[in-house]
Amino acid sequence: MGKPTGFIEYLRELPVDRTPAERVHDWNEFHPHMDEKELRQQGARCMDCGVPFCHTGRLIGGMASGCPINNLIPEWNDLIFRGLWKEALDRLHKTNNFPEFTGRVCPAPCEGSCVLGINAPPVTIKNNEVSIIDRGWDEGWVVPEPPKVRTGKKIAIIGSGPAGLSAAAQLNRAGHTVTVYERADRPGGLLMYGIPNMKLDKKHVVQRRLQLMEQEGVKFVCNANVGGNVDAAKLLAEHDATILATGATQPRDLPIEGRNLKGVHFAMEFLGGNTKALLDSGTDKAPIHARGKRVVVIGGGDTGTDCVGTSIRHGCEHVMQIEILPKPPLERQADNPWPEWPKTLKVDYGQEEAAFKYGADPRTYLTTVKKFIGDAQGNVKELVTVEVKWERNDKGQFIPKEQPGTEKTLKADLVLLAMGFLGPEQPLLKSLGVEADARSNVKAEHGKFTTSLKGVFAAGDCRRGQSLVVWAINEGRAVARECDRYLMGSTDLP
Ligand SMILES: Cc1cc2nc3c(=O)[nH]c(=O)nc-3n(C[C@H](O)[C@H](O)[C@H](O)COP(=O)(O)OP(=O)(O)OC[C@H]3O[C@@H](n4cnc5c(N)ncnc54)[C@H](O)[C@@H]3O)c2cc1C
Ligand code: SF4
Repeated sequence: MGKPTGFIEYLRELPVDRTPAERVHDWNEFHPHMDEKELRQQGARCMDCGVPFCHTGRLIGGMASGCPINNLIPEWNDLIFRGLWKEALDRLHKTNNFPEFTGRVCPAPCEGSCVLGINAPPVTIKNNEVSIIDRGWDEGWVVPEPPKVRTGKKIAIIGSGPAGLSAAAQLNRAGHTVTVYERADRPGGLLMYGIPNMKLDKKHVVQRRLQLMEQEGVKFVCNANVGGNVDAAKLLAEHDATILATGATQPRDLPIEGRNLKGVHFAMEFLGGNTKALLDSGTDKAPIHARGKRVVVIGGGDTGTDCVGTSIRHGCEHVMQIEILPKPPLERQADNPWPEWPKTLKVDYGQEEAAFKYGADPRTYLTTVKKFIGDAQGNVKELVTVEVKWERNDKGQFIPKEQPGTEKTLKADLVLLAMGFLGPEQPLLKSLGVEADARSNVKAEHGKFTTSLKGVFAAGDCRRGQSLVVWAINEGRAVARECDRYLMGSTDLP
């Protein structure tokens, strides 16, 4: 701990984002960097706690408390304060293969459990992380580190999201020959075709890391739909081990009247199509476009926010977001104490931008949609909403109960369904005959990651259900360890 009084002397500061007025006109990232003096002051706020809850990574009440990959946060906070950036980078890479991803998109459960957060704003851990890694790239400190010796073992990884990528990086480091199979035309999973460019730049951030992995010896095979145009049984037979990292991309549907009308889409069709257009043509000429439309996003979570931000950049006429849950409180409640993840109201970039453009936060709470209404051509033109109240049923479960007389009809030309994901897509898993758990995820215990098939492992969202990039990295690193142990009898992988 370089500065014992740092947490008293300095207030929490974050870089000032590009204003909504500026950023809604482009697809570039909107978080700038702070200057070195300010960053060192923010590093100095860390108290180097005897028990640093920031890096515990425990689940409390089903939510992460502390960093799920146990980043050595107090160590690199101190190194930032001292201006030892290269050393900070080395510490950061010890636990995290891709800090430039988590430093941009992680919701930062580390900050939710930071001890300073008990009675003051927590340390700016996430911003410190991204500052270290971005400086590392700028300085040329992040270079390919191919293994010195190859083991001759061949591993197939199916799916190239953060779970598959971190498993690939680790197993390649151990000297195995790793091929990552991806059905999309570019690797990256939801880092590429889920999270929009303004949150995570594809060309300069995602592709840069993918290139480095290729230089280290990882092979990517795209347009390879295993179980479709790539024979799954043959793939398994040709490799010494296989890791399933196929994500949990089966979207929750809303099977109500009018669901089949034109203009009602899953969020991922909208978001993925837009990113592909940006990458292919440099323009946002996406197959589903919001220009001039009244957009209703159903779902108040992160995917919904990304739909709001994307619709605004398309130039929609208006956008609103419908959420079935109640509005979260502004402060932690008594039943949600530190160090739990704070279940408080978050105003994310999409809501900020909607407030700037249309004068108000776009979210309406405690509301669901009863039906979609179409015009004579079969295009959606309206939807009927109803308010709900959460009540316990006779089994003691909370369920939303519609409130009679609260129906409203809203105009809508584009409806985006962003109500979460049900689990992994089933065709490949069924064709392999791999056992599933009660939630249709691949059955594999965390820590072991072995499936019902010998030599086949599972990690990431396809094992735990739709989650976070940081959990996918946790699982990718841990499955690599277990896979290495399976192949070699022991493992040195961290
Ligand atoms: C719109 C959106 C925004 C998000 N924003 C955030 C955020 O800001 N922060 C955060 O932490 N998390 C966010 N998440 C969640 C996060 O992206 C996921 O938890 C994470 O990407 C899961 O990683 P994964 O590697 O398990 O799977 P994925 O990233 O889903 O990757 C799985 C890959 O497997 C491929 N695949 C599937 N089946 C096959 C097959 N048969 N053959 C070949 N390839 C196959 C898929 O095409 C996909 O590329 C977001 C999710 C969405 C949908
Ligand atoms: S909990 Fe907060 S103050 Fe304590 S070591 Fe971690 S970052 Fe520093």
